Amino acid sequence: MSETLYAEVAVNIPQVSGLFHYHLPPELAGQVLPGSLVVAPFGNREVQGIVLRLLQQPEVRETRPLLALLDAQPVVTPAQLELARWMANETLSPLAACFTPMLPPGLGQQSDTLFHLNPTKIDEKVLNQTQLRLVHLLTQRGDLRGRQIESALPRQGWKAATRALIKRGWLVSRPILQPPSVRPKTVRTVQLAVSPEEAEARLESLGRAGTAALQRRQAILRFLIRDPLPIEAAWVYAETGGSLADLHKLEEEGLVILGENETWRDPLDHLSVTLSTAPELTHAQQQAWDTVRAAIARAADTIGSAPAPFLLHGITGSGKTEIYMQAVAETLRQGRQALILVPEISLTPQTVRRFLARFPGQVGLVHSRLSPGERYDTWRRARSGALRVIVGPRSALFTPLPDPGLIVIDECHDSAYYQEDTPPTYHAIETAIAYARLARSVLILGSATPDVSLYYRAQQERWPILQLPVRILAHRQVVAAQMAQLGISSPPAPGEGSTAALNLPPVKVIDMRQELKAGNRTIFSRELQSALQTTLAAHQQAILFLNRRGTATYVFCRQCGYTLKCPRCDLPLTYHVDSEQSSGGLVCHTCNYRRLMPKTCPECSSPHIRQFGTGTEKVESDIQALFPQARTLRYDYETTRLKGSHDVLLQTFSEHRADILIGTQMLAKGLDLPLVTLVGAVLADVGLQMPDYHAGERTFQLLTQVAGRAGRSPLGGRAILQTFQPEHYAIRAAAGHDYAGFLRQELIYRRKLGYPPFARLVRLEFRHSDNSQAEGEARQMAQKLETWMREGDHRATSLIGPVPCFFSRQNNLFRWQIILRGPNPAAILRGRSLGEWRVEVDPASLL
Ligand code: ADP
Ligand code: ZN
Ligand code: ZN
Repeated sequence: MSETLYAEVAVNIPQVSGLFHYHLPPELAGQVLPGSLVVAPFGNREVQGIVLRLLQQPEVRETRPLLALLDAQPVVTPAQLELARWMANETLSPLAACFTPMLPPGLGQQSDTLFHLNPTKIDEKVLNQTQLRLVHLLTQRGDLRGRQIESALPRQGWKAATRALIKRGWLVSRPILQPPSVRPKTVRTVQLAVSPEEAEARLESLGRAGTAALQRRQAILRFLIRDPLPIEAAWVYAETGGSLADLHKLEEEGLVILGENETWRDPLDHLSVTLSTAPELTHAQQQAWDTVRAAIARAADTIGSAPAPFLLHGITGSGKTEIYMQAVAETLRQGRQALILVPEISLTPQTVRRFLARFPGQVGLVHSRLSPGERYDTWRRARSGALRVIVGPRSALFTPLPDPGLIVIDECHDSAYYQEDTPPTYHAIETAIAYARLARSVLILGSATPDVSLYYRAQQERWPILQLPVRILAHRQVVAAQMAQLGISSPPAPGEGSTAALNLPPVKVIDMRQELKAGNRTIFSRELQSALQTTLAAHQQAILFLNRRGTATYVFCRQCGYTLKCPRCDLPLTYHVDSEQSSGGLVCHTCNYRRLMPKTCPECSSPHIRQFGTGTEKVESDIQALFPQARTLRYDYETTRLKGSHDVLLQTFSEHRADILIGTQMLAKGLDLPLVTLVGAVLADVGLQMPDYHAGERTFQLLTQVAGRAGRSPLGGRAILQTFQPEHYAIRAAAGHDYAGFLRQELIYRRKLGYPPFARLVRLEFRHSDNSQAEGEARQMAQKLETWMREGDHRATSLIGPVPCFFSRQNNLFRWQIILRGPNPAAILRGRSLGEWRVEVDPASLL
């Protein structure tokens, strides 16, 4: 008899973070491996878990058997097992929770088991009552799911009965997914799943020679070979005479992928320039690429240390994506796979499309609008190595690629890379750095405005920092081709001047205090009004941008621009209507300092001190009053909430069926419109007032992106930033396209106030429907924390709070928070039981 083996399992129960030991029953021996998804008994329940390792000896005296293996192959790779451990330790999340993002939805709790009766002769004499009933049920009705059996034989212990039947080989069980739930109506698309050469080679194997079916299938394949992008199925039928049945047949053969087009359809399709072959690199690109290529070659050897991450610092349009694609191609040549993370897939169709066009048949898209079934498919095809390039949002980082040689994070400053709501609360950037180290992958972090903490770290740890400081379109050799593509007839005059105009647009900062002095009480400066006038007269387009976050609570003096700050934290106070007082009060959301709203400005005694409240609706109606002939479009949370309207709005604007687009920060990303020659920020300083040390950085990043929307074509363009604080360094740096200057100032400020990267933070949050209960719990926790800090001798760590959060209520729950600040505040909490408290290590926001 062979030795019994044991498995260490991370069980998936919220609030249980321990590991448990089980033994493998004979029928599972040899099948359960590290990374397997199993069902285990836990108390009187059955729970799912991931096997971490196999053991010769359990560390407990009595073990119970594992009950089932839910997938014949491990569901997480060895590198992912290590990564989950790393995440649990760093984010203070339960280990089992760290596996959750690695599993496709549906393979987890919702999965069911299908039971199939083997046709071999069953000896009914050895069966007990329940087993007999089960066999009869399956004989009568054919294969059944566990849930169907449960409703036919409720509470009869049929599950236990299946085990003996399975052991004798009379019954076969396999995990299956629930059929996908209702999903939105979309257009079916089809695309080659293999290289054109392979498709060519398989043409003869698609049916019996001389049959009509063979001809149809061949026609379909030939049609798809010509165009590497997904094509609407209806079009394929029209062109080839094929049918859905033919597509299904080809899908079964692994030759095509069926998908849905809506998810990445590009509303700017008629404008986009998709190079499906690599262009000749510019000098700057070539330099960056040489360094990356050398690292990819080194990473493929298994000796030596894993490569350091690359920070690819390049303004928008400087050719970063081209570097990513070269890196993907090189990685595929090494026989490894690549992961490309983008902030929000629906907002970056142009990026997605470029990868699809360059690597036909090899790209898998992961995004939230896939049905569970489709997501499961993509996940499985990635695990088997069939999909070699994965493009998706932060969660795509956890796709189980067998040997990821490259990880790219585009726009790596984007807050979408941080998961804050449910554990594990992780930073995709930090997690990717760890994963790249574990899997020996090359990691490229690309951005025009990297977070200062990341940049500082890259400098400290001597990561290669690659610079792409010039827009591609400013390279003369590229201009002609692009103009032809865009159908712009009048070429810019040759010479230095014209290429300079194609680089970053000039940005003008308007001091709104002067406007008030000059008697202009509208929300548009005279400069912006005349610029709009000129733009409309030239039949070009403008974008007006309004940072919506925090507008209602932003208190400042319109005469002098003064904002009230907390005397203890130097962060802006925010306006709240207090229930106890009839008038509003001002609160510091870091330390809970409070004061009344002053009647006059403490700086200049003007009575014009109050909160600001302008929304996109107001901007639109004011524009219509000023320019009755202008066609306006509003693009904000309200107007884009309807499914699909996002695309419709962009399409409308890009076809020049509107002149002025008015929107919130959603506008900042990914828009590349040649006719837009003016961008105006209605109030550039709104974000600066958020009581969070990231405020300056977020404002700088946003304004840089907003300004970058203008002048994306040979028509040129400019940006106007209206502000009450024209001297603020974040605004000045954004106006000057001066990342280095911003970095310098911001690091001085962070160092002075002891914020990251010069300290680390942990945010603890408690929610309760009763405010005083929440407060009481927060005070108790603060005391506990003080004790733990004393015991652990964490003298360099300070405790800030407790205090109500800036967004003090959510879903009718009151939110209170405590912040720990020090060299390693997470160490104070490791291994502690924190009950209902939410914990964020290195929080992306303190709001
Ligand atoms: P980024 O990712 O930095 O915003 P992209 O890689 O998207 O920049 O490049 C901007 C545009 O220039 C794209 O349309 C791209 O196809 C084109 N492009 C990039 N590199 C080259 C090149 N070397 N030659 C010609 N066109 C290029
Ligand atoms: Zn004032
Ligand atoms: Zn304060």
